[in-house]
Formats: sequence, C-alpha cells, structure tokens
Amino acid sequence: MSTDHQLAKIFPSKSNITLDQYKELHKQSIEDPETFWSKAAKEHLDWFRPFDKVSEGSFEHGDVRWFQGGKLNVSYNALDRQIGKNPNKRSNDIALVWEGDEPDDIRKLTYEEVLRKVCQIANALLRMGVRKGDIVTVYMPMIPELAMTMLACTRIGAVHSVVFAGFSAEALAQRISAAQSQVLITADVGCRGGKQIPLKDIVNDSLTKMDCDSIVKHVLVWERFYTGDAESTPPYEMSARDVRMDPLVAVQRPYCPPEHMDAEDNLFILYTSGSTGKPKGLLHTTGGYALYAKMTTQISFDLHPGDLFACVADCGWITGHTYVVYGPLLNGSTTFMFESTPVYPDEGRYWDMVQRHKITQFYTAPTAIRLLMRYGDEAPKKYDLSSLKVLGTVGEPINPEAWRWYYEVVGNSNCTVVDTYWQTETGGHVITNLPGVTPMKPGSCTLPFYGVNAAVLDPQSGKELTEPDEHGHYEGVMALKQPWPGMARTCLGDHERYLNVYFRPYPGYYFTGDTVSRDEDGFHFIIGRMDDVINVSGHRIGTAEVESALVAHPAVAQAAVVGQPHDIKGQAICAFVMLTVGYEETPELLKELRGSVRTEIGAFCTPDLIVVTPSLPMTRSGKIMRRILRKIVCGETDSLGDTSTLADPSIVDVLITKVGKLT
Ligand code: ATP
Ligand code: MG
Repeated sequence: MSTDHQLAKIFPSKSNITLDQYKELHKQSIEDPETFWSKAAKEHLDWFRPFDKVSEGSFEHGDVRWFQGGKLNVSYNALDRQIGKNPNKRSNDIALVWEGDEPDDIRKLTYEEVLRKVCQIANALLRMGVRKGDIVTVYMPMIPELAMTMLACTRIGAVHSVVFAGFSAEALAQRISAAQSQVLITADVGCRGGKQIPLKDIVNDSLTKMDCDSIVKHVLVWERFYTGDAESTPPYEMSARDVRMDPLVAVQRPYCPPEHMDAEDNLFILYTSGSTGKPKGLLHTTGGYALYAKMTTQISFDLHPGDLFACVADCGWITGHTYVVYGPLLNGSTTFMFESTPVYPDEGRYWDMVQRHKITQFYTAPTAIRLLMRYGDEAPKKYDLSSLKVLGTVGEPINPEAWRWYYEVVGNSNCTVVDTYWQTETGGHVITNLPGVTPMKPGSCTLPFYGVNAAVLDPQSGKELTEPDEHGHYEGVMALKQPWPGMARTCLGDHERYLNVYFRPYPGYYFTGDTVSRDEDGFHFIIGRMDDVINVSGHRIGTAEVESALVAHPAVAQAAVVGQPHDIKGQAICAFVMLTVGYEETPELLKELRGSVRTEIGAFCTPDLIVVTPSLPMTRSGKIMRRILRKIVCGETDSLGDTSTLADPSIVDVLITKVGKLT
C-alpha cells in the first residue's frame, strides 16, 4: 500500500479533544450505543415529543429503527431552531450563499429569508394537494430553490425524491414511476458551463414514457429568469398540468406550521450512482438521518461559527443532500451552493470562489482533484486560499498523488484533508479522519465515526479477520457490525433487494460492497469494489492501488484497471488511461507506464494491456464504471448491464473499437 507516514502528523486542534479521547469516546459509542445516541439526539436536535427508545430491530430482518416515539421536523430543526436559538443574531445570519453558472451571479439568503420562502413553498405544495407521506419528484438545477423545495417537502412531511438534473427523460421516467409521484417539480432550464439545459423539455419527454402520463397530475415549474410578472408568457410551452411556481409561491403565507413527524417517518428517496449495477432507490427516515447529518458535518469538518462551508456536489447525490443542505443548516452554518463546473470559465473557478467568498471548508471528489491537478499548480497559486481550513474528499479512493496535491498546493500544507468514506446507504460519513484529532495518511479514510463498528471480513468465511497478512495488514470485505442512525431503511418498493444486497451476503453485518485494507494502526484504506478485485496468479489486487501507480506518472490524468481472463494467470490486468494534455501515445510511454507500476507495486501487477482513451466511462456523479470496461475486455459487449447513469454513453463504442484493434 503506498502510504507516506511522514505526513502522518497531528495538526493543531480546534476541536479540543485528543486522539486518545476520540478513541475512548468511540469505544463508548460502540459498547453503549443507547447512552451515546440518546445523549446526542437530545443535544443536537429539538423534539416536539421525546423518543421512548433509542434503537430497536436487527440487520437480519432489516427492521432497524431509531428514536421511536419521538416527534420532530427536519425543516424546523434546520431553520426555526437556528433562528430561535439566538433570534437577533441567527435570523440575519446567512444560511445560503449561491453562485450560479456565471461567477457574478451570486445570491445570499438569511435564515429568516429561507424560512419564509420554505414556508411559502410548503403552502404552495399543500395547495397543489401534496400531503404527508406523498413522494414528490424533484428534477431541478443547483439553484437555491432546489434546497428550499427539499426543505419545504420536509416541512409538510412529503418525501422528496431528487433526480439529478443531468439524467435523461428515460431515467427520470423510471424514477417518477417507481415513486408514483403525482407532483413533479422542475425548472425551465438549468445552466452549466455557459450552456442552457432544457429541463422542462426533458420533463415533457419523460411524461410520454412508461406510465408517467397517468401518474403525474401537476408539473410545478420554477423559471430561471422570472421577472415577477405573473401575466408574462412563460419561456416554454405550458400544458394543462403545468403550474408556474414563482407566482404560485408569491401569494402564499410565509409561515407554515411544521408537521410533527415520527422519527421513523420517511424523509427522502435517493438513488445510488449505479457504478456497480442498476441504481438502488434508498429510503432514509427522519430522526436518525437528521442527527447523523448534523453530527458528521459538525465533527468531520470541524465546523465553527462564522465558517463558510462549501460542498460542491450536486443535490442529485447523497453528498448534496447531507453536506449541501441538511448537515450545514442543521448546524446553523452558512452553506455554499454551486451551479457550475470546476473548469468554467476556466480551471481556476474553485480557487477563485474560495478567494472571493473566503470559503473555510471545501469538499469535492477525487475525480475533480485529478482533473485540476493536471492543469498544473498555477491556477491555485494565483489565488489567496488562506481562508481554507479543511479540505474534504469523497466518492472514490483518492490516490496519494492527488491527495498530496490537494494537501500541498491547494491547502498550502496547512489544512486538514478529510478523506470521508461513506455511501448513499450510510446517510453520512462512516469512516473519516477528524481535523486536529486523527493523524492523516494519504489514501486512507482512517478511523470510524462515532457509533460505527467497522469490521474487515474474510470474503470466503464471512468471519472477521484475526490474523494479519505478511505486511501486518488485514485485507478483506469492508463491513459494519452494528446499526447507526443514518443508515437507509429499505429500497423503495423492494425490501428483498435491500436484504439481499446489504444483509444476506455476510449475516450479522452490513455489507458495503467494498474491499479494504486495515493497517497496523487500525487505519482503513479502501482498495476498490468487491466486484472489481483482480486475481493475478493468486494475488488479490485492488483497482485503487494499480490506478494510483499509473496516475502517479505525470502523463496520466485518469486511469481505470480491470481484470481480463487469462489462461495461465487466471486474470491479467488491463489498464485504461487518459493522458494529460500535451502527452502523446507512444510505445516508449506505454513501456514507461508499465515500468512505473512494476516499480511502485511489483512485477505481478504489470498491466498486460494498456489502452489509451480520450475518456473513461464515468457515472454522472463522476465515478469510474469499471464493470463496463470489464465487459469490453471480456468481449461481452452485448450484455453491458444498466447504463442509465453513464455520463457519456458514446465512449462505449469508441472503447469497443479500440480494444478490438488491440486484442
Ligand atoms: P452503486 O451502489 O449504484 O454501484 P455507488 O456505490 O457508486 O453506486 P454511491 O453511494 O454514490 O454509489 O457511492 C458509494 C461508494 O463510493 C462506496 O461504496 C465506495 O466504493 C465509494 N467511496 C465513497 N467515498 C469513498 C472514499 N472516501 N474512499 C474510497 N471510496 C469511496
Ligand atoms: Mg454502492
């Protein structure tokens, strides 16, 4: 495992606990979860009615429940509670800073303004017949109205299902149909990289598919460039079921009493990225999710009053739910919402925003870091990034090369990099370092969050590994041993799938689907997906390790490796690489790349085939879809599986042709 222990130092702590104190508190949270979570829930949330029990149910039946009998409302906790805590101050505090596609398109909204608008939207939804428990599908760009629409749903107990606004009409139709949503909320257009995306047209198209035409009663449309004139002609063709959102909202009362929700009432539905198969529609409930979102945001990012917390993920993914909307607002912080891309108008966009807004915590994905790293150090160096304290990463294993760039160039060797490992299913971080508390190791998500009982299982026996390998490490299946409040409760309409995917593979454990290596200090390194593990001549090889070795070469911008059947070795390694701008594919370069893998890891990992490609098959959330590459190298191109979340489907044919020529 490529680690750099020299960088494993502890930073001056703002959180006033030590590593030993964290360990002690973590131990208590595992041994006596009742006491830990009961105290946490009372401290971090306001309850209309106290809960009777902390937690009940089992992994076996998939009936885990938290804070039973308790009543609360998430929008109340995110807004009213914040204002109520300190009426003079909080009400004028900025809840949300938004920067649109164009850098000068900026909006700032106070807690008071957000509360009023959320109440108006909530009343508008009631007016349109939405009731507690109804699932509202939301297909919107990253504008403040999206966050406020989500909060308005929670205000009245409606369940939101946010569909990433980059999805096709087909994918949207599937999600509308699965949710049986009578109300769909969208916008006329979305803006990205200087282009407009005609969301309303895509919605219209989706309503002609499956059974959507008969399900959807109302389409509520936000207008991006609405001028306040209700009589004006909307910039799209209106049908009988369309309702203009701005004029409807404007006439509503700016207060709406919060619905008293049971802790286990449904809060939202959200689909996974679809990296390993057909996306799973997961259901999260109210009390446990809210508590977990709040605590992980506060503790993993070391939030303090006055911070400006920027998570640049889209609300179409769980990262946007937990760390753009719910976590920061439940903490009374200021959240930053971003509509555009990291390279618009140029590759300095993120750093320009950090400088202009004085962002203190910045949270993105390895794919963005790798992309920006390949443009060189000039862009970040041009800006004053001294406001930054914590840099977060999520979504895929981060290769040490990118980690170091993030840490040294962006963070000026002065910020904590938090490598947060978690999933749509976990609701919030499950393994992450804590700033000022946990030492950092590049490429390691380090130690579990409070209440998370992490286990490394032998993939064959399903038992916890007790004997380390020759390096003193424990390598196996990443599993969790006991329930935590933020866990998803079921798959929408398919509880069998929930049990089959997460709880039946290794009875007694929650199965993450990932493989991990735990080192001698108990630190975790995610080495890839279970399905992606390659076995060469009896050596189990994680994709992350080989990809890291490739990306460490300056010529490689992104890399993905998969196994290919091999008569003698069992599997051979096949690597797909995207070159950095300015590099060309030559036999010498390919030889050099093979050489770097050989020296970094060992001869047994040398790729048999290296395919240079203009891009990789990625999910729309920016993750590599190795299963597609595996199918291509195995020649099984007629059974590629679910490709609905593929960002650019045209790359598949390009790769099929290229691999066909090489093999
Ligand atoms: P699907 O479940 O549909 O295949 P997905 O697993 O990519 O898609 P998400 O829930 O968005 O959907 O992603 C969770 C996965 O992302 C984790 O299981 C893990 O593989 C990866 N991941 C997230 N954070 C990290 C991290 N910090 N380090 C390593 N891997 C990570
Ligand atoms: Mg997954």
